[in-house]
Amino acid sequence: MAPRKLHIALLASPGMGHLSPVLLLGRRLVTEHDLLVTIFSVTTDTTVSPVQAELVSTVTRNIHLPIIPIPAADISKVANPNASVITQLNIMMRETVPVIRTAISSMDPRPDVLIFDIFAYASRVIAEEFGMSKFLFVTANAWFTALFTYSPVLDKEVVGQYIDQTGPLEIPGCKPVRPEDVIDPMVDRNDETYGFYLEQAVGATLTDGILINTWEVLEPQSVDALRNNEILRSVVKNKPVYTVGPIIKTGGVKSDVIEWLDKQPEESVTYVSFGSGGTISAKQIEELAWGLELSQQRFIWVVRPPCGHASDGSFFRPGDLDGPGCPTSFFPKGFLSRIQKVGFIVLSWAPQVEILNHKSVGGFLTHCGWNSTLESITSGVPMITWPLYAEQNMNATMLVEELEIAVRPEVLPTKKVVGRDEIEKMVRVLMDSEKGKEMREKAKILKKGAEEAITENGSSYISMCKLIENCWSKIQ
Ligand code: UDP
Repeated sequence: MAPRKLHIALLASPGMGHLSPVLLLGRRLVTEHDLLVTIFSVTTDTTVSPVQAELVSTVTRNIHLPIIPIPAADISKVANPNASVITQLNIMMRETVPVIRTAISSMDPRPDVLIFDIFAYASRVIAEEFGMSKFLFVTANAWFTALFTYSPVLDKEVVGQYIDQTGPLEIPGCKPVRPEDVIDPMVDRNDETYGFYLEQAVGATLTDGILINTWEVLEPQSVDALRNNEILRSVVKNKPVYTVGPIIKTGGVKSDVIEWLDKQPEESVTYVSFGSGGTISAKQIEELAWGLELSQQRFIWVVRPPCGHASDGSFFRPGDLDGPGCPTSFFPKGFLSRIQKVGFIVLSWAPQVEILNHKSVGGFLTHCGWNSTLESITSGVPMITWPLYAEQNMNATMLVEELEIAVRPEVLPTKKVVGRDEIEKMVRVLMDSEKGKEMREKAKILKKGAEEAITENGSSYISMCKLIENCWSKIQ
């Protein structure tokens, strides 16, 4: 008889930003560690978008990785419709616990382990009821994880709003966080979202351990603090911290934008994109267009319809792509014909991983979502940081100040429209200067480190093995 396999259930909150890393983690556990994995994907939508369908088909290709959709609970009677997206997501995941419980309890044999993302923390109780091990999967970085887990302490110690503090927020053993960089749920301590955030942070410490999508040499200081700093250790209740990244998509799709890239010189193109839902204002679209044109560098730009506030994502509002609100109608007059030879405009969605890995791409103007950041680093591509929401300000600061593989505008783009001259200058620095070259060299070194981390005997591979050992030890 074949030996029994460890069975892991992975739980993803709604949205590609959660499903994507959870699916990729599942694939790695199956292909590299020969485990039995079942994915539970909480979904608000009965229709599957083409992008999601493609991701699922790529991730599950040639392997057994069942994905069980869980319909999200209707929260119209319990949640204020005007509450923030994050608050609604938290309430939705809390209200969906009974459905997840039913789905897990009907499995035979029942999974041994439950791994969930931050928003699914309320499902911890299911693992406790069924005697399963339970782990949190942080799809952001270690520095964020340190701030996140330490937040209940900051909540007691800091008086007033975090963003109004005159000095940086100290996290034991880690680089301090500038008040202007604090993550979205910490911006207003009086908002309901902050209460949920603190609950999540406490929930993280009630697990059997924390997985982080990072690797040791990328964030030595924060990883060391989470594992060894006495104060942080006591905050995370001495739970093990597993660095298992980078967990990212691999490319392979051919498309017209890739064909265009095939014809461009090596490392000559800047890729511009604001993630799966980021949007910028109409005025900012105009300035960005001018800045790119004035830089006289080649570029690919994924454009979306504008929104009123730079920080507002388009997650729940896909916007108008070909009507009067079409994003290209916000370009300066004549822009499209003037940039014909050097620019490529993509509406709404581009094959990002394929683009970043293409030899013609030499820079990335990014909103600094953690997945985009990892995809850029693992392609050896330096960046211009343009953070919009979530923990992206911290990611941007880390890229500029610690890793030294990015430049940034003087003022955060959420605070002030970035002007064409500054954009032109940043693109030139990135693509056509000694500093740009140095950043590219550093990015390539980090890329190598990422590759090493996930090979057999690399730090992330070993970390995953330790996680699996921990799970087995609780069963035997
Ligand atoms: N993405 C893509 N094409 C696009 C925009 C985004 O493939 O046009 C992918 C990107 O490769 C990344 C994810 O969407 O894997 C965005 O995740 P990230 O964490 O960077 O930002 P979020 O969208 O969650 O803010």
